[in-house]
Amino acid sequence: MLPAHTLRISALLTLVSVCSLGQDFVAKEPLATNPWTRTYSLQGMGKKAQVDLPQDWQYTAVAMRIPHGASFEGMYLTDGTDELIIEANPHGEDPRGQLSNLESLPHPSQSYQLHIPTSYAGSLELILVNSGTAPKVQSPQQKGEDESYCEFPPAISQSEWRAGLPAPSPGRSFSNVGNLIVHHSAGSNTNTNFTQVVRDIYVFHTQTRGWSDVGYNYLISQNGDLYLGRDPENGDQDRVIGAHFCGGNTGTMGVCLLGDYTNLSPTDTMLGTLERLLAWKAYKDEMDPMGTNSHRFNSNLGVIAGHRDGCATECPGQHTYDQLESMRERITQRIGICSGDIPIVEEPSLPVDSISIYRLTSTYRPLRIYAVEPALVDTEEFYLIDVQGRSIPILAEPWTSNVWELRVPADVVPGIYVLHLVVNHEARRQRVRIF
Ligand SMILES: [Zn+2]
Repeated sequence: MLPAHTLRISALLTLVSVCSLGQDFVAKEPLATNPWTRTYSLQGMGKKAQVDLPQDWQYTAVAMRIPHGASFEGMYLTDGTDELIIEANPHGEDPRGQLSNLESLPHPSQSYQLHIPTSYAGSLELILVNSGTAPKVQSPQQKGEDESYCEFPPAISQSEWRAGLPAPSPGRSFSNVGNLIVHHSAGSNTNTNFTQVVRDIYVFHTQTRGWSDVGYNYLISQNGDLYLGRDPENGDQDRVIGAHFCGGNTGTMGVCLLGDYTNLSPTDTMLGTLERLLAWKAYKDEMDPMGTNSHRFNSNLGVIAGHRDGCATECPGQHTYDQLESMRERITQRIGICSGDIPIVEEPSLPVDSISIYRLTSTYRPLRIYAVEPALVDTEEFYLIDVQGRSIPILAEPWTSNVWELRVPADVVPGIYVLHLVVNHEARRQRVRIF
């Protein structure tokens, strides 16, 4: 039996133009309608228009499609509280025109109005997406799963986030991956219903774009949750060929950060998950995170690359792109720890006699370094590097002429770290274990 709302085709008649100057934008017959999407054709007359979106059909996300050469400039959606700017989709190549970003609505039940600027003339398509009610999925972090580094991070499976939505089309292809491609969705930075956002992208990719499944191998939400993307059926999630790299997907693995990082930085937690994922993949497949791997779009394409390194797009946003070089370094570091290439004790890496770390108070874990002989130590340059490659600042105080006490924040969990310090003007690093 069809859901009741598929029978309410007459609802499209509620999508009418409301404007100050007359008959600016009028909804034509829907181009397509099914339980998950509706597409309307709007005809513009070159006047400013505010179009009321239908209130009798539940939709969770909105996108636009305009002819090639036209511009989204000045278009936005509002429910009177939030204003959602319509912009070109960085993955917007489409034979039928250019697509806008997919705007997942923070308040799906509210009535929204689409504003079209005076300067816009011509036709446009309004695409409504209904990905249903997102199931409650438990965040892998909240499951209390161990951060066992060098292994695949805990993730939310397709059967969890996709519950209640139609299955993807069957049939998958696989390739050996040489390039790990980072994307951003260019969608909302404030919508915290992450599972809904992932479902919206899935419906948009499968129903509107006509792809067999969601385009990415993985998606990462702002709270650091990892979502498994394109369903590999019985194959490998990291080797299934997706749809994310301008038609050059073979040999790539696509990871999408939810949100728009043109003007904002990705959260530390989502970058942490991205690093864990890429480090796991690079370590497992013996990829060099600092290296390049030739691709038909770019003979020097980074093993870890942004979408823009392969084709004309702003993706993954400047603020993500700016992070990639330091991320490559941290992943290299991390792989060194995974493989044991960074030894626990490497004499004479440090002019130290012994290192002791123990809990002194509930606030600090002091770490004492005993030098064989007095050495010139730059205490400004003391820090720890965790297995995710992140720097942890520590306080360093001379204890005696050849002993320094390092105070490590109490929330540093036990494990393997790399201690970085500068001795006699030379940077030294040594693996240490904090108990
Ligand atoms: Zn991209």
